[in-house]
Amino acid sequence: MKERLRLTLLAATLACVALPLTSEEIPMQTASTPATATASPSWMNASTSRLQDELVAKYGTQQRERLERGLHQITEFRRADDGDAATFEDFVRTNFAGNQATLDTMFNRFQSLLEQLDGHMHEINRAFNQQSDLDLGPMLPFDETFAGYDPSAHVLDDFFNNKLAFTVLLNFPLTTLDERLKNGPNWTRRQWAETRLAQRFDKRIPADVNLAIAQAAGASGQYISQYNIWMYHLTDPQGQRLFPPKMRLLSHWNLRDEIKANYSDGQGGLPKQRMIQQVMERIVTQTIPQVVINNPAVDWNPFTNEVKAAAAKDSDATTNSPITNAPEPDTRYAVLLRDFNAAKKADPYSPTAPTLIDRRFQEDREIPEARLKAMLEQVLGSPLVAQTAKLIQSRLGRPLEPFDIWYNGFRPGSKYTEAQLDEMVAKKYPTAEAYQKDIPNLLIKLGFSPDRAQYVANNIIVDPARGSGHAMGSQMRSEKAHLRTRVEKTGMNYKGFNIAVHEMGHNVEQTFSLNDNDYTLLQGVPNTAFTEALAFVFQGHDLELLGLPAPDAKSQAEKTLNDFWSTYEIAGVALVDMSVWHWMYDHPQATPKQLNQATVQISKDIWNHYYAPIFHKNDVVLLGIYSHMIDSFLYLPDYPIGHMIAFQIEEQMKKAGAIGPDFERMAKMGRITPDLWMERATGRPVGPEALLEATQQALAANTSH
Ligand SMILES: [Zn+2]
Repeated sequence: MKERLRLTLLAATLACVALPLTSEEIPMQTASTPATATASPSWMNASTSRLQDELVAKYGTQQRERLERGLHQITEFRRADDGDAATFEDFVRTNFAGNQATLDTMFNRFQSLLEQLDGHMHEINRAFNQQSDLDLGPMLPFDETFAGYDPSAHVLDDFFNNKLAFTVLLNFPLTTLDERLKNGPNWTRRQWAETRLAQRFDKRIPADVNLAIAQAAGASGQYISQYNIWMYHLTDPQGQRLFPPKMRLLSHWNLRDEIKANYSDGQGGLPKQRMIQQVMERIVTQTIPQVVINNPAVDWNPFTNEVKAAAAKDSDATTNSPITNAPEPDTRYAVLLRDFNAAKKADPYSPTAPTLIDRRFQEDREIPEARLKAMLEQVLGSPLVAQTAKLIQSRLGRPLEPFDIWYNGFRPGSKYTEAQLDEMVAKKYPTAEAYQKDIPNLLIKLGFSPDRAQYVANNIIVDPARGSGHAMGSQMRSEKAHLRTRVEKTGMNYKGFNIAVHEMGHNVEQTFSLNDNDYTLLQGVPNTAFTEALAFVFQGHDLELLGLPAPDAKSQAEKTLNDFWSTYEIAGVALVDMSVWHWMYDHPQATPKQLNQATVQISKDIWNHYYAPIFHKNDVVLLGIYSHMIDSFLYLPDYPIGHMIAFQIEEQMKKAGAIGPDFERMAKMGRITPDLWMERATGRPVGPEALLEATQQALAANTSH
């Protein structure tokens, strides 16, 4: 479900959980003192005032403001090893574009050459990943090395070293999010493109800092990826095993999904769900015995916390560790603190966004934190929560329990069984080529004109995927977008088709937002939630694309309620993630134990405020369980925003009737700020209103039955 490899877009992938770190957090090692980022040499003041006088005399007073700004910008990023006063002055004299014609030429040439750079780097990446991405037979060990290599990793360093970055910073404006929000609506498209051009060079992070961040990210990813619970070895107070042998669940994703799966197990599911909640709470509070983590050689009663040598075996594993219930020694929080300390090292080198919190909100999301928080609170505090909870309670036939934040009983029904759908799809699409050929028809069914449908279809290449599928756009106009889809030997199945339609939505967006955008510097969408929302619009119409009736009103209402309840759950989780990062910035000397206590308290406070009134239980710590909180550097707020944006776009498509023309209109806007994009797309800024309105209607439909 994910689109891959957007080199310039800082991606945070909604629903398609992979987690590309932003460029600032790619690769670093131990601490370097941020000595030179701001220190300015003794000759600097004299040099800049000399240059100002000289160049204003040469180009006229109308250039004064641009020149002052440019000089200020380059001095902010200068380092001692960039040269002496003479080198500095010579650079400015040579590279300041003193009239509009020179500036236009510079802008156009940077735009087209950066398109070439990004486009070809991306091409290399695609080729190097081909064996691992596509269904082309066995992988050899070196294929993974090719796939892991990023030829563009040093581009930013190179551009500072050869001073092309300084040429941009001398001539084009760096902006803060405040300025983009305040002035952006009145900017021309060219001004937006200039803004994005300068933003490419808004940090100069030393290689050792980047390495430290990459190492912390790698270590936290590693910690999370090994955090398994062997379920057969959990025992209840009566000593019974509730889960089958060999079941090994990764925290938190698999544990949460097991809670969800157990709703279909009626009364038999309930004790299992309660037990998983207990396990999760022990992980958050770090009262989990160290020896039970990823260890099938011990049995554990998570209620009493008693640990014993395994009395039944489901693996050959043995353990050398002493079997005691000594708790995990706050490792979870030590790992998070290491992320924090690494991310913080980049702060001095990022003058327009000097904390990781700033970089996430002001650069990656481009939604101010306060506004985003208000949107989350609007969902959490909505009276629709209690109404939805009441409906869940009546369907469950029991009072809600805390783990019911993961209730998954809202399900769109289908007239057809999965097997029937599989048969239809396999017949229609026996091969990837059959799907490729049908793309123009599919797009016409979605309301694109035959011309536009053919145009887009010509720009998409369908490849057989090794995994479940993904979309890979191109980064230059002479290249095509790739749709990677899974086709079994017996033909495509329904699940594969559903994903292919989603990925096709990404490809269509990628095509319009690159090829039909007036500036390639503006290619893309404001952030990843937008491309996901556009892809979900396609995916939601997959039945019609098979020639079947659209989901009925009842099905749609179930889907809406499911999305609303998920948003309610993840909004609280996002608030915990945000508060924990603020706490770390407020307590930079904290120990892992202190961070543990703080996270537990934050989780309880947010629970007590927004969930306890619904669940009638205080001091629950479940909101702190998300693994992304430990290894993903403040990524969680993307999820609830993604749900809101999806509803806004869907609502607009419904209003517009046909999807095609509106989809094209939206995708062509490119990477402006989220609010501006959304206002131009739907008439309203980003917000939860569309989601809340749809939920209200879905609830009304439910009570009237
Ligand atoms: Zn996707």
